[in-house]
Amino acid sequence: MDVYALPMTTRFRGITVREGLLLAGPAGWGEFCPFPEYDDRESVAWLAAAREAAGAGWPEPVREQVPVNCTVPAVGPEHAQRIVRASGCTTAKVKVADAGAPLSEDLERVAAVRDALGPAGLVRVDANAAWDVATAVAAIGELDRAAGGLEYVEQPCWEVDDLAAVRRAVDVPIAADESIRRAEDPMRVVAAGAADIVVLKVSPLGGVRRALRIAEEVGLPVVVSSAVESGVGLAAGLALAGALPELHHACGLATASLLADDVVDEPLRPVDGLLPVPRRAPEPVHRSRVAAAADRAAWWNGRHDRVAALLDTAPLSTG
Ligand SMILES: [Mg+2]
Repeated sequence: MDVYALPMTTRFRGITVREGLLLAGPAGWGEFCPFPEYDDRESVAWLAAAREAAGAGWPEPVREQVPVNCTVPAVGPEHAQRIVRASGCTTAKVKVADAGAPLSEDLERVAAVRDALGPAGLVRVDANAAWDVATAVAAIGELDRAAGGLEYVEQPCWEVDDLAAVRRAVDVPIAADESIRRAEDPMRVVAAGAADIVVLKVSPLGGVRRALRIAEEVGLPVVVSSAVESGVGLAAGLALAGALPELHHACGLATASLLADDVVDEPLRPVDGLLPVPRRAPEPVHRSRVAAAADRAAWWNGRHDRVAALLDTAPLSTG
């Protein structure tokens, strides 16, 4: 199996190189790339998703293209506007509550992004669980005004109960992202009344079919997001977004630009804010160019074999 190491353009989750393993099957290619801190048990769903792509392929899509958001990191207002204008996207996700930065910088950034998008654009913010309830409630009110209206706030606090408390106190819709890491999490979020929107990722939920079932069970609007996969794994995210019966929000799948290289020939860059829905993952033609060093390849192959043993012993429920 091929293990890749892709340098990142932006530090993300504390990593600067994205690694993973590609596996081939009768339906094409799949990608197994749980983040390094995930244990074997938690990585089982990621392998199930990779096997689905390689072995069974994905369900038929109901749309050919998926609207995606651009992502604005914690940069100054002019830089933020350049990112938005260069992206061609009409929805922007703006990072807020970055460590140590004052709210005034977030307010300037969202106002600048609104300026660049115009009144028809949508501005969402992502706090990545940085706030407590009181801080979140105060900040969201100010951000909503500065942005001329927010589409939603992603993960203002860490705890599900805190999300629910914020949701009761503000009018801006709340999206749960970090709160959803395993298949049982979305219903927990719903039961707590913690979100208006759920962010779903194919790999941690165990594949496109399982994610579709979870979306149906949850009954809330879904935003499909990536786990910063290569072009092979991103295709699975697009397959989910393409197969959802309803899609009301732009998806967080324009993440190819976070990687400085890719295993596929044509990394998925949005055109006019849209990405195409693929029928199968693209061929990873640059596997030798981005091959990981021997010690890392050995680490990933060992991880794969342990996780495969777990998955073969106790297959994921098909719901
Ligand atoms: Mg998020």
